[in-house]
Amino acid sequence: MIEVIFLGTGGIKPTPERNVPSIAIRIDGEITLFDAGEGTLRQMEIAGISPMKVKRIFITHFHGDHYLGIPALVQTMSLWKRRDPLHIYGPEGASTFIENLLKSGYFEPPFDVIVHEIPGKYRLKFENYEIWSFEVSHGIPALGYVFKERDKRGNFDLEKIKRLGLKPGSWMKELEKKKILEINGTIIRLSDVTGPKKRGAKIVYTGDTEPCENVTLFSKRATILIHEATYVSEEDRGESYHTTIREACETWHDSKAKMLVMFHRGPRYSYAEYKRKVFEICPQAIVPRDFDRIIVKGENDVLLKVR
Ligand SMILES: [Zn+2]
Ligand SMILES: [Zn+2]
Repeated sequence: MIEVIFLGTGGIKPTPERNVPSIAIRIDGEITLFDAGEGTLRQMEIAGISPMKVKRIFITHFHGDHYLGIPALVQTMSLWKRRDPLHIYGPEGASTFIENLLKSGYFEPPFDVIVHEIPGKYRLKFENYEIWSFEVSHGIPALGYVFKERDKRGNFDLEKIKRLGLKPGSWMKELEKKKILEINGTIIRLSDVTGPKKRGAKIVYTGDTEPCENVTLFSKRATILIHEATYVSEEDRGESYHTTIREACETWHDSKAKMLVMFHRGPRYSYAEYKRKVFEICPQAIVPRDFDRIIVKGENDVLLKVR
């Protein structure tokens, strides 16, 4: 099971109603953060997420509302005597920006902070998931990210087992571990006796961007597309490199992603006003508040849990 926790759903600056962007993804007890705007530590405290469980932080770009929460997180981890390394990923400039941030104030983390600068399109493989990055269009180096759960093997297929002249037994556990076994002189592969693979969930987060072809490309048939939709109209958006509700909705239709989340709401809109606009323009879209969660049990099994 994967849990997507919205720690901050607003953009540009916090309002009494919502904080600036941060999304936590929990898988197997481990937390990955996507963006960490100012105040993320407090949001985690309210959501009951320990900073000590954060293994990796992915920053989409270096505008203050997306990364200024990092020093507070690292200082708290230091106070709590963290020993595990912390990996921070971000676009061009990440090393310099984060190094400078961590030099401010009287503290020295007792653990390694390892900064990885990602050159646009990239693929990172971890134990149970992969992260893919892609360039978006925001006037400065900026990335979107895909969290791709690893595909899982299909269930054991009793028909297939029977056809091979075998009977279910303890060899199944061994085969699961070794992937290939010799049974009565015959080589059996795991795929010979299991059904089709179950595709892992795919969660896409755009960060800040104007409408951008790469988003459509990378969110093809995603489970969840978390798209920035800072403005309710083109008039409000003006010349800024952001997306409107209508544009986010169009990208979602093109991508054929299952669920659309409108994210990074501009501070000028109240929740009710913004939600009303979304309902008019793109009624299927989800508008989370801070601390709402999405439970992902499979590629096609998602459930919004309101706080
Ligand atoms: Zn922003
Ligand atoms: Zn920005």
